[in-house]
Amino acid sequence: MVRVRQLPNEEHVPDSYGAAPDELGIAPEVYQALECHLPSGLVGAPAEVKRYFMRSILQNYVPSPAQRTRTQNQREYRERILSAYQPLHQELYTDDPSIFLTPTFLQAITVNTEESITSLMMEVSPGVYAFHMLKPSFCEMLMAEANHFFTWARTADQRIMSPITLDMPAAGRGACLFDFGLQGMLDNLMKNFISPIATVLYPEVGGSTLDSHHSYVVEYDETDPARGLHVDDSEVTLNICLGKHFTGADMYFRGIRCGNHINSGMHDEEHFVHPNVPGQVMLHHGSHRHGVFPVTSGQRVNMVMWCRSSLFRDMKKCMNDFSGFCGECQFERTARQVQHLQELTARISINAQEDEAP
Ligand SMILES: [Zn+2]
Repeated sequence: MVRVRQLPNEEHVPDSYGAAPDELGIAPEVYQALECHLPSGLVGAPAEVKRYFMRSILQNYVPSPAQRTRTQNQREYRERILSAYQPLHQELYTDDPSIFLTPTFLQAITVNTEESITSLMMEVSPGVYAFHMLKPSFCEMLMAEANHFFTWARTADQRIMSPITLDMPAAGRGACLFDFGLQGMLDNLMKNFISPIATVLYPEVGGSTLDSHHSYVVEYDETDPARGLHVDDSEVTLNICLGKHFTGADMYFRGIRCGNHINSGMHDEEHFVHPNVPGQVMLHHGSHRHGVFPVTSGQRVNMVMWCRSSLFRDMKKCMNDFSGFCGECQFERTARQVQHLQELTARISINAQEDEAP
């Protein structure tokens, strides 16, 4: 296995790797950039030898043909929408955080200490935080924009891709917020405001290295089935209830689990329920098993950000103990420690009896 240099050799002039991407879709520029990170013993080797080693690294990151097709389809879908859709509220597309964040929240993040951040939060259960972050006017604008988008899609006969792969009968109507042009604003929101919080609250799941997100808006009313128990495809999830008026729709949680224990049972202390409160943000581990009870009247609209860390996802492949966050791994580790202690106590007791024997 080749171990690459963390810092590139700036003085090295890389070989040429042709003019077009190879059959894996890797561009020549990628090989050239990676070559500057190769260990010194390999840098002087023929280009084909270096390409062989670099491919062995890069193929772990190359999407499958099916993934590439999906990405291409999504890009074309998004370009089609962005070329035709006229936003309702241009203010949403701004980079000015004072438009959408409350002054108290903005101040706490600007100070950026553990105390200033935790002072904003109410830990409603271990690992789940509730707080206020967005101005009511922003919540109203975002709901109106989503509604405007759905109306436009119907008029333009534009099919909207579901923002989540549902493992149950379709629930609610939703759209990815990137699809109507909010990527820039949301990228800044994650980088400048969610990452500092996740750094403090979720270091065990790469909270300090969040580098991408999937963000969407979703609406439910009483005709929709409940959103059943699930985990998110995220390290950290930000779930904001934007409105409107509704009853029901409480969230329930059933413990944080690693991939090995996703279907394991629940311990009593892991079960709790928290209401969806308009204007309130809920922040939790993506791997915190949760669901939402049905809306019993009115309409609920939420904005959800699944924040991800590619570094943590790479690290996870080499890990087999997730007791840093998984309730079941912690339970098993404690059971092992108790058993070890009992065996040790029994051994000491036998030794003491043998010492006392005449
Ligand atoms: Zn586990």
